Amino acid sequence: MKKLLPIVTFILGIVLCFSACNSKKIEMIEKSEMQIKVEEFAYVDLVAPELIAQLSEKEKQLIPIFIKIAEIMDQLFWKQTFGDKTILDTISDTFMADFANINYGPWERLKDNQSFVPGFGAKPLGCQYYPEDITKEEFEAFYDKNKSSLYTILKRNADGSLKTVWYKDEFKEDLDKVCALIDEAIALTEDSGLRYYLLERKKAFQTDDYFKSDMAWMDMKESKLDFIVGPIENYDDKFQEAKASYEAFVLIKDEVRSKNLEKFILMLPQLQKELPCEPKYKKFVPGTSSDLNVYNALYYGGDCNAGSKTIAINLPNDDRVAAAKGTRRLQLRNSMQAKFDKILMPIGQLIITPEQLGNLNFDAFFWNVTFHEVAHGLGVKDLVNGKGTVDKALGTEKTSWEEAKADILGLFMVIKLIDMGEITNITEEDAITTYIAGILRSVRFGAASSHGKANMMCFNYFEKAGAFTRNEVGQYVIDYDKAYQAMNDWAKLIIETQGNGDFEFAKQYRSENGGITETLQADLDKVNNAGIPRDIRFNQGIRILGLE
Ligand SMILES: [Zn+2]
Repeated sequence: MKKLLPIVTFILGIVLCFSACNSKKIEMIEKSEMQIKVEEFAYVDLVAPELIAQLSEKEKQLIPIFIKIAEIMDQLFWKQTFGDKTILDTISDTFMADFANINYGPWERLKDNQSFVPGFGAKPLGCQYYPEDITKEEFEAFYDKNKSSLYTILKRNADGSLKTVWYKDEFKEDLDKVCALIDEAIALTEDSGLRYYLLERKKAFQTDDYFKSDMAWMDMKESKLDFIVGPIENYDDKFQEAKASYEAFVLIKDEVRSKNLEKFILMLPQLQKELPCEPKYKKFVPGTSSDLNVYNALYYGGDCNAGSKTIAINLPNDDRVAAAKGTRRLQLRNSMQAKFDKILMPIGQLIITPEQLGNLNFDAFFWNVTFHEVAHGLGVKDLVNGKGTVDKALGTEKTSWEEAKADILGLFMVIKLIDMGEITNITEEDAITTYIAGILRSVRFGAASSHGKANMMCFNYFEKAGAFTRNEVGQYVIDYDKAYQAMNDWAKLIIETQGNGDFEFAKQYRSENGGITETLQADLDKVNNAGIPRDIRFNQGIRILGLE
């Protein structure tokens, strides 16, 4: 990237001057495209005063140390995904510079990584994890047993040949600082589970072997603070999806709400029996040892802070750890609240009839999102004919149907728990209204993903069943009786399709019902033209937390 600097700066100079001179004339009448793009990310303060107040003095002192480490993860991710960040200092348009910060580079993450800074072409598929000019053929021909490791980058020797370099060596200077900060944290840590995890995580940064520290993280059950840190997800690497990106979440557990969820997990076997289908489809006994907790996020650094923001986490990714210890699902309540307030509520105000708008609320959104996760553990796993698993039988249709199942059984469970008097802060109408509005939030930018197709199958089923109609001004009016019936019928159809392993039906049904209809597209256009944010960004750090 460095060798490009003089050329880029030169081109940028011309283009930016040209556009700046031009934009001066029009800024009185309209916002620049860049300003609009930046403002589509609504600012949210990441704070949790009530939860922080419950921490001990030493726990409070840990937060700034974790944030310092998270800031280093942020810098490391810049190096991985873009390279030398100072190249972007030459951008004189402040909105364009800000948009580059949101995207961690000059490529728009929510728009197929298209370049938005003049002088920059397409984003290299392999980011900076590989030499920019590497080809698939060259990668395949390169013999090195570590070339596909999550924790190596590929570089060129002086003679142009390829070599692998471990993260621990490539980023040694920064990782030494990380380890010194972890030592500071260990000295302050009172919780033995957290202390052991930090010890193992430090070793992992030094060895690029994260297995033991992932195991230690799963064993950490009591700590009020959680700190997800390291090279974790591999989505940024579009060349091989092999390389892990640095990131960090500093989280604080909401113990009261987490305890509540624990109670619901114990009810899963009973809820499984209530599913609206024949007994042969509900023989599976769901596990009750799930690790599902509620947190407030205090800081996002690196990969997880780039582009759209995560509101629920399921880790670790290492299958060996998942097999031995299960996974931990973390619901980030304040980030969910932010997306609800800034995005879902404004969508509802536009699209739901005023008489039913009172049924759109955050608590219902929280339960729906949380029970979507739980619902993955319910339903049917093995074919009812005894000839294998659902996953295998449904093949390429597997994910869309599994997501549709989680969506509708999530709603089903919320409504059952309301009936049982277990969830008391919302009504059935709240759950249904928020569910329908939530689909519009999810598919606003297209339904190409498995999640998107699943969402559309649910939405289209509800519409065909008359669960909602549009009034004379195009707003949704929900018929709650029909919606309730649609929920049960659709859940039954999904479970039967999965349990029978009916691939042909699954494929045909999804291709006919998994798309965005013209009427829905018109609704989505209305939402998109109303200037409702696309996503959120954070005011975060030690100062805003009052921990300076
Ligand atoms: Zn899911």
